[in-house]
Amino acid sequence: MPAEPASSPGPSSRHAGRVAIYPGSFDPLTNGHVDIITRGLGVFDRIIVAILVNRDKSPVFSADERIAMTREVFGGEGRVEVDTFDGLLVDYARRRGAHVIVRGLRAISDFEYEFQMALMNQRLMPDLETVFMMPAEAYTYTSSRLIREVFALGGSIDGLVPAAVLARLREKRAAGLLRP
Ligand code: ADP
Repeated sequence: MPAEPASSPGPSSRHAGRVAIYPGSFDPLTNGHVDIITRGLGVFDRIIVAILVNRDKSPVFSADERIAMTREVFGGEGRVEVDTFDGLLVDYARRRGAHVIVRGLRAISDFEYEFQMALMNQRLMPDLETVFMMPAEAYTYTSSRLIREVFALGGSIDGLVPAAVLARLREKRAAGLLRP
């Protein structure tokens, strides 16, 4: 194979060290999210879990709590960064020098909203790609909201959230801060 000429552009900086942003509310992080992040690590070099603050004015878990839980779960994984953002996702992506957004697709019901968001973001930032990943089947029906509701009403959520999240959900419920 001929050697590459010295002037060969090689991989552009856009391709060197692929960084993907995984944005969401994560109120709280579930095993569905963990599954998507883990799959993402098989495709990208780094994943920035970007916790949206502000949009939902009254999350159950504060931004600090959501950061702490996510860091606890991925503490040993240096390729996962946890951050917060508000405002337009495309502005955050530009600031972070990222060109890929990862979103999880559970069922047909996710599709319409995700399709709209992906195309709007593409319009706002043409070189931004949204990549959809499917979770393991066991997580296709779970959401943070459903998990909060079931747990608030005393149902079991074993296996649906990481241990660190379950512990904090228990604290919230005991303090009467978990509404169905
Ligand atoms: P948002 O408020 O933006 O929907 P979420 O924290 O609920 O934020 O979800 C962030 C992303 O993770 C979204 O793309 C959502 O579709 C995806 N997601 C949430 N729960 C699951 C799950 N159980 N399996 C796969 N993807 C999921």
